[in-house]
Amino acid sequence: MHAIGANLERINKRIASAAERCGRTPDAVQLVAVSKTLPPATVHAAVQAGITLFGENYIQEAREKFNALAAQPVTWHFIGHLQSNKAKYAVRMFDLIHSVDSIKLAGELNKQAQKINKRQAVLIQVNISGETTKSGTTAQNALALARHIIDLEHLSLKGLMTMPPFFNQPEKARPYFKSLHKLAEELNPVLPADAQLTELSMGMTGDFETAVEEGATLVRIGTALFGERD
Ligand SMILES: *Cc1c(COP(=O)(O)O)cnc(C)c1O
Repeated sequence: MHAIGANLERINKRIASAAERCGRTPDAVQLVAVSKTLPPATVHAAVQAGITLFGENYIQEAREKFNALAAQPVTWHFIGHLQSNKAKYAVRMFDLIHSVDSIKLAGELNKQAQKINKRQAVLIQVNISGETTKSGTTAQNALALARHIIDLEHLSLKGLMTMPPFFNQPEKARPYFKSLHKLAEELNPVLPADAQLTELSMGMTGDFETAVEEGATLVRIGTALFGERD
């Protein structure tokens, strides 16, 4: 518990300095605490340390924690690859789904959100690097997918998400963060005023300061907060 609190303080300071370096205000950046693989007790300890927003990658695992933490003032984001057949569970738990990458998935989320009378907030995951192992739509297809999502009544499009290739130097990830930001700026003028891409989900333990410098509004951090995962 102690460690999480101290880690949180350090991370918040690093986010704040990165934001200030480029003239942004630190509260323009939200920390998503990535709790995948961690037990509910650890999430509980993180809540005690002041964290209220968690990111999960797997539906089944998230359901356990969602139920265990039901009485706590926490919100959940889905950041992993989502299969259409899990959309039903996703809309019940998550305030924001970062990983919409196909028309099929968008359609299924819309259908399931309608059933529970919800407007589901989503991001489009973009495979900015074009690596074949990464999920996400291509930058070229992002506009078509955005237009499709905007037409779905029970979805609300908020922005873009990306995962750059893995590097051990954050500077190498910078061009990918820049590209995602640029893509949002190119799409916004042709999208409706009430569907602007204002959220950029980018940056993890190894590169979140670079991501903040390039305009991230959501950074997804696991290891720096909780230590190495098993
Ligand atoms: C695991 C994961 C993270 C967090 O990674 P760390 O390097 O532990 O901070 C962020 N985003 C996604 C999509 C992840 O799967």
